[in-house]
Amino acid sequence: MQEERHPPFTAEQAKAWREMIPTPFYVYDEAGIRACATDLYKAFSWNKGFKEYFAVKATPTPAILRLLASLGCGVDCASLIELMLSEKCGIVGKNIMFSSNETRREEYREAVRLGAIVNLDDLTQIENLRAACGTLPDTVCCRYNPGKFQITNDIIGHLADTKFGMPEEQLIEAFRNLRDGGVRHFGIHAMLASCSLEETYYPKLARELFSLALRVREQTGVAVEFIDLSGGIGIPYRPGEQAVDIFAVGAGVKEAYDEILLQNGMEVSIFTELGRYMTGPYGYLLTSVIGKKHTYKEYVGVDATACDLMRPAMYGAYHPITVLGREDEEKTLVCDVVGSLCENNDKFAVDRPLPPTELGDMLAIGAAGAHGRSMGYNYNGKLRCAEFLLKSDGSLVKIRRAETPEDYFATLDIDPAFGI
Ligand SMILES: *Cc1c(COP(=O)(O)O)cnc(C)c1O
Repeated sequence: MQEERHPPFTAEQAKAWREMIPTPFYVYDEAGIRACATDLYKAFSWNKGFKEYFAVKATPTPAILRLLASLGCGVDCASLIELMLSEKCGIVGKNIMFSSNETRREEYREAVRLGAIVNLDDLTQIENLRAACGTLPDTVCCRYNPGKFQITNDIIGHLADTKFGMPEEQLIEAFRNLRDGGVRHFGIHAMLASCSLEETYYPKLARELFSLALRVREQTGVAVEFIDLSGGIGIPYRPGEQAVDIFAVGAGVKEAYDEILLQNGMEVSIFTELGRYMTGPYGYLLTSVIGKKHTYKEYVGVDATACDLMRPAMYGAYHPITVLGREDEEKTLVCDVVGSLCENNDKFAVDRPLPPTELGDMLAIGAAGAHGRSMGYNYNGKLRCAEFLLKSDGSLVKIRRAETPEDYFATLDIDPAFGI
């Protein structure tokens, strides 16, 4: 089995942080995120217009968005608030991809006001976009759903059953309508897998989309200028899972590019909208052990809950857990690691072998840098926790404060004049 990945900080460091910061809280590793983005750009450096649009939903925190922007990334937004957040971070214009579905008109208006690239999920959205903005923007992308694909995926499921994107005939019709409506720059987008550890995912997807681009050109005269491979590259969660070799992925896409597009005299920019891959491995939820219980099985109780990291409760996701300071001890305690919610699925791990764990120990729940804090919620009156960036120089910087009771009560009106 592959060796376990330990967090980029020690038990002493974490305990010193806890003197100042109440657990639970998130820590993101700046050096890891930087290296990841740098390697991605290197892997696609053969493509002149390559750009990564970081999927904001993965980690919608300004310091993270700005860090990625400083490395050349744009953002992929799916809602009004994500658009507003991007603008507040100074990320505007063609640095925003707006990939939404079931879109409200105010969202189209905001995307177009910011100069974002609009990615349409359906043929009928052309009229919606026109009605929202009075006219069509100069650049539009269309989201493709081929109905089936060589690689199937648990999270996305069968493509014919998924709500995203349009079939080829509709996409061709959309390009005709858009062209007739004055749109001048076009792109094609598809996301056919999620959390895929198969190195061939992007190359196979690229092949589909490159061939589609040729058929679009043939049938409509429209030469698309960019192909958006969207997100979907996975990260290792379980021990033994191998990280994707991004250089092999880049080379695989290049091979398809040379063979299909260059051979046919077509050049495009490659875009990606990775979320999980960019930040997932580099985030840790730090939590303290506050209870131990032996009933029909062993329980280790912590001060974090599914409100801080929902993935295990939501889809039984596996997250690595390090008992800080006990990395070298034998894993003799098989236990459930549980939070305090009044829900039995509030478990970070089930039947997990851990080293003997005592009250006061600190756990680092790993691979939590994407869809972690961002999926947080307030059930049982839980307040969402703070986020910190572990800088490359070793310092720890607060990048989002924890919620306070005042935040929780801000949407309530306790005055009896309001209702009963
Ligand atoms: C969620 C999403 C992404 C990012 O997906 P990851 O699996 O985090 O890479 C990219 N594009 C769209 C349209 C998405 O919905």
